[in-house]
Amino acid sequence: MVSFAGEMNLPVKTVEPSADPSPTLVNAIPSASDILSKKQVPILCYHQIRDWKPTDSKTSRTYIVPPAAFAAQMRMLADSGYHTITPDQLYGYLISGKRLPAKPIMLSFDDTDLDQYTVAYPEMKKYGFTGVFFIMTVSLGRPHYMSRDQVRTLSDEGNTIGSHTWDHHNVKKYEGNDWVIQLDKPTRLLEQITGKSIRYFAYPFGLWNTAAFPELKKRGFVAAFQLNEKPDPTDPLYCIRRIIVPGTWNGNTLHQWMLRDF
Ligand SMILES: [Zn+2]
Repeated sequence: MVSFAGEMNLPVKTVEPSADPSPTLVNAIPSASDILSKKQVPILCYHQIRDWKPTDSKTSRTYIVPPAAFAAQMRMLADSGYHTITPDQLYGYLISGKRLPAKPIMLSFDDTDLDQYTVAYPEMKKYGFTGVFFIMTVSLGRPHYMSRDQVRTLSDEGNTIGSHTWDHHNVKKYEGNDWVIQLDKPTRLLEQITGKSIRYFAYPFGLWNTAAFPELKKRGFVAAFQLNEKPDPTDPLYCIRRIIVPGTWNGNTLHQWMLRDF
């Protein structure tokens, strides 16, 4: 049996010799290059879903999608036959080749903004779409942010809750107790709220380095999401690409980008 587990730094699956004389197919963990060679699932990243204010800068409008634009983007996805998938489905596809629905797409939301719950989610539900919500726990219950009950509801209704640290500090600068503050405590809180284990992480600002990978693995995270940098060639599961959808894109622009970028 050839195992790539060392290279991937994942637990090695040991297989007991079988009494059955027929050849046993071993589910080897795929190598990093196997994972990288798979067709990428488009993963979209959203922040605030609200109308622009005159005070919003050009840069911040990149992160703010007006509700009408979001509605048009969701309608395009539904009309074009896309199916939202969960991070667990994506992981199963990447690690063990599990089948995905036709035209898979993943919708992800960062930063705990309340309008993700009040504006985006109702729009998604019209089409039976689900998403992954990466929660920054310091904001829970604050004005303009989601409450614990809202996060629980999202989880109960089939969405995935992931971690986006405690207060959005750059992972590349963590030292000493920072991992405990930014990962351990927020993860425990999210597990308490959802009653489920928290297995997925999104890097604040999309910023990552390979030093973060063992820290995430130690804490039970099986994959992590960045933004649009080239993935690490040795451990691509810990720097999965996403694109930020700007508020200036209509359904057609989004579709063209998805086809071109993934
Ligand atoms: Zn963020």
